[in-house]
Amino acid sequence: MTALKGKTALVTGSTSGIGLAIARTLAQAGADVVLNGFGEIDAARDAVAAHGGRVGYHGADMRRADEIAAMIDFTNKEFGGVDILVNNAGIQHVVPVDDFPADKWDDILAINLSSAFHATKCALLTMRARGWGRIVNVASVHGLVASVNKSAYVAAKHGLVGLTKTVALELAETGITCNAICPGWVQTPLAAKQFADRAHALRIDLDTARARVVGEKQPSGKVVTPEQLGALVAFLCSDAAAEVRGVAWAMDGGWTAQ
Ligand code: NAD
Repeated sequence: MTALKGKTALVTGSTSGIGLAIARTLAQAGADVVLNGFGEIDAARDAVAAHGGRVGYHGADMRRADEIAAMIDFTNKEFGGVDILVNNAGIQHVVPVDDFPADKWDDILAINLSSAFHATKCALLTMRARGWGRIVNVASVHGLVASVNKSAYVAAKHGLVGLTKTVALELAETGITCNAICPGWVQTPLAAKQFADRAHALRIDLDTARARVVGEKQPSGKVVTPEQLGALVAFLCSDAAAEVRGVAWAMDGGWTAQ
């Protein structure tokens, strides 16, 4: 598959989980990829490079607008510009609003929402010059509905869906699209902590806890896989999706159909 040959994709938060799977799928489709995020950087780079194409990395902290601008500058200089921007970096913190630490609120809003604004604004310079671009925001079912104890996350993801629609409308007469994807439960480190917390709280084994947490929300009873989300993003980046604009596309085992 070489549909994205000649394109450069910048995927934020792509050293792990969903972002890494998206980066791999876009590389498989022929794109050069710039990775971002913390942790297992070399392993992520190797996994994406295995699909061929160039792979770069920038360590910008998504809490910082100046570092996000530097990451886009790096991509412009080293890769000739951003054609595909996937705003994926995200964190979670689960606690009632009464006890929600203000610094966690600030971090979640910065990483899960404001970073997408800063990156979009910078990346649009080259996309507009070329008349083509794809912006995919990794939101969540929590961009569409709420759950208890996730005030910052739900607020940020609803904001991200709103940003997606606004940007899509502003770009509607161009070859640049902006869409959001809204996953339900996905087996990644972000979700694993919540499965482990439930196992610990109820003194049950991890598999039982995961089945219970997923089953509470998803009629399918199954987690979504990062690879399934990668394939959805590849579709949104394809020519077939040229008129998909401003959607918040759920892939959630039926969670939001209820
Ligand atoms: P993950 O923890 O596996 O990956 C998060 C990525 O973001 C990592 O690469 C991490 O290094 C990076 N990151 C964190 N803070 C950063 C910062 N300050 N600057 C730069 N990078 C940073 O999590 P995931 O589950 O793959 O989550 C990816 C996205 O998917 C997030 O936006 C999350 O909200 C969303 N999501 C996840 C689920 C799920 O069930 N796992 C469901 C819906 C939506």
